[in-house]
Amino acid sequence: MNKAEITNIKQLLSTQKKIVIVPHKNPDGDAIGSTLGLYHYLNKSNHDVHVIVPNDYPTFLKWMPGNNTILKYDSNTNTCNALIDNADILFTLDFNAFHRTGNMESVLAESKAIKIMIDHHQAPDNYATYMFSDVHMSSTCEMIYHFIDMLGDINLIDSDIATCLYTGIMTDTGSFRFLCTTSETHRIVAQLIEQGANNAEIHNNIYDTNSYKRLQLLGCALANLKVIPESRTAYITLSQDELNSFDYKKGDTEGVVNYALSLNNTILAAIFIEDKQEDIIKISLRSKGSFSVNELSRAHFNGGGHKNAAGGRSDLSLDDTVAKFISILPSYSKALNDE
Ligand code: 5GP
Ligand code: MN
Repeated sequence: MNKAEITNIKQLLSTQKKIVIVPHKNPDGDAIGSTLGLYHYLNKSNHDVHVIVPNDYPTFLKWMPGNNTILKYDSNTNTCNALIDNADILFTLDFNAFHRTGNMESVLAESKAIKIMIDHHQAPDNYATYMFSDVHMSSTCEMIYHFIDMLGDINLIDSDIATCLYTGIMTDTGSFRFLCTTSETHRIVAQLIEQGANNAEIHNNIYDTNSYKRLQLLGCALANLKVIPESRTAYITLSQDELNSFDYKKGDTEGVVNYALSLNNTILAAIFIEDKQEDIIKISLRSKGSFSVNELSRAHFNGGGHKNAAGGRSDLSLDDTVAKFISILPSYSKALNDE
């Protein structure tokens, strides 16, 4: 985002505006943290601001300041459509193609509002009036910090904003350990703690609220772990029956794929989760080093994301999806074994 664009946005925000902020479907910590962080910032300047999420999100994200103001598109569609139709400005955060919002795709595409994209995923679509896209950023939350900074408002960051932004940076960096974590990420996180983010409490709220059933589901996932040593690959499956028997709730499988990646000598990890309601297999892919799961997912599983973390889906059965995955591995053999 260049100086002229920042000047334009500053000008735009100098008078009261009707603003809608939207993250991707199945919002994660970065999606909720960035939308609420931006919400608190814009609210402070007296804009009329609404966060609209496409659908529900895990309970472990429902404690963030501002959480009870969030509107869910799938259960409040008419109100949300009216807000989007009347919006002057639409911020799209943590995604870069309208189809990533599921059922909100058409209403967003038809919106006449000025669109501002803030996002760190690969291969952005070209819908935004102003596009702040940087695949080297750890998280959209880190970008919101830069955005507020570029607007000259760093002093407006209070404990609510700091808490939301800290949360998304923490979750998208795997608690500051993934490759995307830079010295700058740490400098920003240090600032956020100084501005009121309670890091120990945030960590506790996100990671230490497991139910007994969720830990048992993790046990089931780990028991299902399979290894393909010649491709330095490990994968996990969870069928709908298994999910049901452990009382599955949204978010219960978050992070499970990382156990597969933690296996020694593993470069590529996947989890295949059966979703009978949507009639798909939801896939999460993770990698180490230069092996790109974004490319693998785009090529074979109708998805995408980042180099080392991507998602996708399959319309085949669980068994057939796994068989397809195994069948494509030989074509990546060189990349996996060179890494
Ligand atoms: P997860 O595996 O945790 O669902 O997603 C990993 C990363 O890939 C996240 O940054 C997420 O936003 C992105 N992602 C997940 N599913 C998709 C998808 O279907 N398409 C694209 N383009 N990105 C995805
Ligand atoms: Mn993100």
